[in-house]
This record gives sequence, structure tokens and C-alpha cells, in this order.
Amino acid sequence: MSDKTLEEFEKGHKSFRTVNFKENEERFKVLAEKGQNPKALFIGCSDSRVMPAMITGSKPGDLFIIRNIGNLVAPYQPDSNFHATAAAIEYAVSVLKLTDVIVCGHSHCGAIASLYKDIEPTDENIHTLKWLELGEAPKKIAMMSVPATDKEALLRYTEKASVIFQIENLLTYPAVKKRVESGELFLHGWYYDIEEGLIEYYDDERYEFVPLGANKKGES
Ligand code: ZN
Repeated sequence: MSDKTLEEFEKGHKSFRTVNFKENEERFKVLAEKGQNPKALFIGCSDSRVMPAMITGSKPGDLFIIRNIGNLVAPYQPDSNFHATAAAIEYAVSVLKLTDVIVCGHSHCGAIASLYKDIEPTDENIHTLKWLELGEAPKKIAMMSVPATDKEALLRYTEKASVIFQIENLLTYPAVKKRVESGELFLHGWYYDIEEGLIEYYDDERYEFVPLGANKKGES
């Protein structure tokens, strides 16, 4: 880390200690003593422009967060490999017993864009390329639905379609499926538009993304 970056973080931490920590001191104390009891599992992209706590106005202890390249969820695969995302999903659902899971895609996602690039496999991108295979199905649907000449529309469509595919993958986890079927767990598909600072959610009755907080069907 460069001295300049470190200096910025040092300044930021000082400000956190004097302002944000002070404001939440009591809350942190309770969280430390009683443990966490988060409201939801948020599965978002590692992208530095997506800030789960900031865009949802969440406080410390509110969100259990998984971030990975492209907010992707690999299907349930009980084998001897190391599965970080799967382990965190299991922990959130089976141990913390959270009631809500949010998969949040976002605009201008580099992972989604790279699905449309011809990338030569090397020993420096082997895990990335394997991981991005989880975006192939939404890419196919997008290519059937949007003209390839409209590149930006194709990317936005793929980013949104991918969220729905990842929710389907979540349902391959026995713990998730069981709790969704018994009404103990709810899955949500979100999409965050970086320029607009707007979250949309997937309405599975209307088959479209609508702004979070907008009146639901049947409500006035
Ligand atoms: Zn992304």
C-alpha cells in the first residue's frame, strides 16, 4: 500500500473513531456482548462502487454481507473443494437463521461486461474465468432478447437477468429451499443503478424490476 493511500485510511479511521463510532458506541457494545442478529443476507458484487450499508441506510449489525465478483451464486455442490460463498450462505441461513436474502446486481458491472470479451485463459485468471461461467446462462437469455448492436442495453439486460439466475441457484441449497417452501425465508432480487443511486427490485408478478419503495401492485 502506498504511503498516500495509507495516510488517507489513517485519516478516515480517525474520523470514524471520533464521529461514527461515537454515534454508535452503545450499539457496538450490545453487538459485542450479545452477538449479531442481522436482518438480511446481502449478496453483492465486490465492485468498490456498490456499498451495501450506505445504499440501504443500514447500521452496524443489520446486514450479513457476501461480496464476490459479479454477485454470483454457484449451485449447491457438496464436494471437497473450498466454497466461500456457499459457506457464508449456509451460515446465514442455517446458523443465523436470517429471514431474507437479497441478491443485488448493479449497473456497469465489470464481471458481466467481461462475459462479452474474448479472454485468453492464463495462470493468472483461471479462478476468475471459472467463476464467470456462472454468468453464461443469463448472457444467453440476454443475447436472445436484445440486439447485439445495442451493447449498453445488452449489458444492462444481462446484469438484471443474472440476478434472477443467481436466485434460482440459491434454491439448489437444501437449507434455502426448505425454508423458502415453509415460508421462513424470502429471496429478493435487486439491481443498483450506480449513476442514479437507485435500487430496483424484481417483481415476480410483473416480471420486471421496479424502484424499491414504489407502490406494489394492488396498492395505491
Ligand atoms: Zn459488478
